[in-house]
Amino acid sequence: MQQIHTGHCLCGAVSFETEGPLRPITACHCSQCRRQTGLYYAATSTSADRLTIRGEEKLSWYRASDAAGRGFCSTCGSALFWRADGAESISILAGAFDQPLGVGMGVHIYCADKGDYYEIPEDGARRYPGDDS
Ligand SMILES: [Zn+2]
Ligand SMILES: [Zn+2]
Repeated sequence: MQQIHTGHCLCGAVSFETEGPLRPITACHCSQCRRQTGLYYAATSTSADRLTIRGEEKLSWYRASDAAGRGFCSTCGSALFWRADGAESISILAGAFDQPLGVGMGVHIYCADKGDYYEIPEDGARRYPGDDS
C-alpha cells in the first residue's frame, strides 16, 4: 500500500507531500526549538527523496547553528522543516500535516533544556537529557 501524507503551512503558500512510512515523532525541548515554536519542536522525518515541496520560492531557511537549517514559510512564518547539513533525512513538523498523521510520539530529546513553564507529557515516549544517541 502506498502511504501518501500531505501538509502545508498556515497560509498554504508552501505545501508538501511525502511518500512512504514516517518516523515516530521526535520532540525537541532545546532552547532553539522552544524559541522557534513557543513550546517544543515535534517533528517526524523521512528521507529527502520521498518529500516533494511546492511553493519552494516562499520557503526560507534559517540557520540557528552551523550544523542544520530550519525551513519556514516566509509569508506566514510557519516552521516546517529541519535538516542537518548533508543528511539524507529531513524532519517535518508534525503540526503541518493534514490529519490523520498515523504516527505517535517516539522520543523526547534535550529534556534537560526544557522550559520551566510546562511538563513533558507522560506519553510513554523515551526521554533523553540531550540527543538520542
Ligand atoms: Zn505560509
Ligand atoms: Zn531542538
